[in-house]
Amino acid sequence: MATYDPSMVYFVGAGPGDPELITLKGYNILSQADVVIYAGSLINKELLNYCKPEAECHDSAYLHLDQITELMVSGIKAGKLVVRLQTGDLSLYGSIREQGEELGKHGIGFRSVAGVSSFLGAASELGVEYTVPEVSQSLVITRMAGRTPTPELESIERFAAHQTSMAIFLSVQGIESVVKQLLKGGYPQETPAAVVYKATWDDCQIIRGDLTNIAEQVNAAGINKTALILVGRFLGEEYHYSKLYDAEFSHEYR
Ligand code: SAH
Repeated sequence: MATYDPSMVYFVGAGPGDPELITLKGYNILSQADVVIYAGSLINKELLNYCKPEAECHDSAYLHLDQITELMVSGIKAGKLVVRLQTGDLSLYGSIREQGEELGKHGIGFRSVAGVSSFLGAASELGVEYTVPEVSQSLVITRMAGRTPTPELESIERFAAHQTSMAIFLSVQGIESVVKQLLKGGYPQETPAAVVYKATWDDCQIIRGDLTNIAEQVNAAGINKTALILVGRFLGEEYHYSKLYDAEFSHEYR
């Protein structure tokens, strides 16, 4: 197994929930860590079983940025291997930039280890592709404006005008408003939609419908967090075989 540099903090993507969906590298680092600061409200705590029994594990759900920084800095100064474990992949709504900035003030660097994002976990739960030949070839990943505003050019309504595949994070608590914006922006009412709650966890729940009924079903199920709203014709019946495995098509892209 590789050895890791205790002079920097390792930000590790924990994956969407299933403890087998952390990368091998993430697993290796976690199993050598002395200090782990994990985002307790979203990550599966079973991942902490990969740590040494003597590792110090802190739930960051109860901490603010200064306290998280303090834990990371004091660990590094004591020569410990420090891991910051966050849900999914770090590159989406991960706030690693500000954490890196704070570490930088103490002369400490960081490394990121990629994880499986929840939008990928959700697609695997449904067994679907976001990109379906002649139906949709693009995926928009976004969120509705909340405490963190969204730039006007990136409103859900504007994205809806493309009628492409969409994976909407951090928004299920406002699903009625999301649906209104999707319709106003241009998706037809019969556009298929799904909400995946706790993708890849044992208690995963999947709600399927279309833009006329998804909000009602989600409210009836009482889902108001840890879910993705997926929208688009990729969830529907329409399908065309890709050229990739076509007998007439060149082999070099397979
Ligand atoms: N970096 C994470 C996203 C963090 S933002 C990633 O790559 O997935 C937190 C939001 O992610 C939640 O509000 C929810 O919309 C989504 N999310 C995280 N884990 C999820 C899961 N297992 N199933 C469905 N949605 C999830």
